Amino acid sequence: MGWSLVASASPLSYSSFHTYEECPLRWKFLYIDRIPETPRGYFTFGRVIHSVLEELLRPMVTPTARRLREGEAQRTLDEWHPKGAGRPVELTLTREELLAAYDRSWTGEGYTSAEEEARYKTLGRDLLLRYYARLSHERPHPVSVEEHLEARWDGIPIHGYIDRIDRTSEGALEIVDYKTSRELSGEDARGSDQLSIYQILVENNYTEPVSGLTLYHLRSLTAHRVPPRPKPTLLALHDRMGMVQDGIRSEAYEPTPGRQCARCDFQSRCPEFRPVPATDQARLRELVDRFEDLRANEKRLELELRHTAEELHRAAEGFGVHRIPGTHSVAIRRREETWQYTLDGLRARVNAAGLEGRLGRGSAEEVRSVLRDPSVDPELRRRLAEAGTRRVKWYWELEDSGSGG
Ligand code: SF4
Repeated sequence: MGWSLVASASPLSYSSFHTYEECPLRWKFLYIDRIPETPRGYFTFGRVIHSVLEELLRPMVTPTARRLREGEAQRTLDEWHPKGAGRPVELTLTREELLAAYDRSWTGEGYTSAEEEARYKTLGRDLLLRYYARLSHERPHPVSVEEHLEARWDGIPIHGYIDRIDRTSEGALEIVDYKTSRELSGEDARGSDQLSIYQILVENNYTEPVSGLTLYHLRSLTAHRVPPRPKPTLLALHDRMGMVQDGIRSEAYEPTPGRQCARCDFQSRCPEFRPVPATDQARLRELVDRFEDLRANEKRLELELRHTAEELHRAAEGFGVHRIPGTHSVAIRRREETWQYTLDGLRARVNAAGLEGRLGRGSAEEVRSVLRDPSVDPELRRRLAEAGTRRVKWYWELEDSGSGG
């Protein structure tokens, strides 16, 4: 119980929220049991690049106005950046210093081979140098880098580390998240829950409005920029986060298998993948085989039953009979008749006659009660009767013939 209180009170980050939505049991292994995952090279790579970019960009930061917390004195925008705003900011690291920072930050954790590590190392060097060259003529005005922000979003505590928040030339704020992934598209930026959560965090912590959200693809130096999320998008996300929060509070940790299982480190602990005990394997295998046979027979029997009933039906039609004796039973043909009424074209007349209350669903019972009512206009009753379609269904019942011993 203590654990769940801690868990439900902990703020949700994007990755915690996303993990729970994908599989609550995986979330439990990570966030409650705190079982470490196997390091993976591409995550290590992303972390290293982010830390070097932080070192490169932090000297360019000019802070801006923040929302007041309780007991804080009001500060003006000018107090925060009296000189820096609007002026080009110098790069404080040289190319060589940038590469030295890269070498210092590098770690081989999680790579599956020396070749893989070397490939990533070269990729990172190339990517950082191209980004550095781009900065010399496309200088951002960050107000923060790698900042940890927290907020309470209508009852849901959230938090996140934001790669970069920029001041735009209009004085608003733009949120930038770097991606080192192979592929990235504008669609990713439009649908990113991560950017939506960052928007809420920034709006709750800064006084200036957010005017843009960007996923920055470092491999291609492409900024996928989208406008801030409209209210309905944020409300829908808030609902989903509320459901996750409720799930955590009620300790709902069901395994939810899917594509995510392929990269899940917890298969050996997960009931979805746990093997049957060796002592019971043979017995359970037999049960499964029997079940499989029965299922196959069930389908075959259903088909055979339908074909036999159809053949009996054709014979009954041909001979004009309804009872066909067998050895032990008599097969009796029964008829079921149903009526369906399509009143769409008659709604105006029905309403004009004040009958909409009686013909609300247009069911056969409702229509019949109106057809029998002499106080209803005969022309309308005729039109209603014509709107009906009769469906006849035949079926067979077996009755004991009494001839068996
Ligand atoms: S293996 Fe699949 S179902 Fe099991 S915990 Fe991992 S993600 Fe969830």
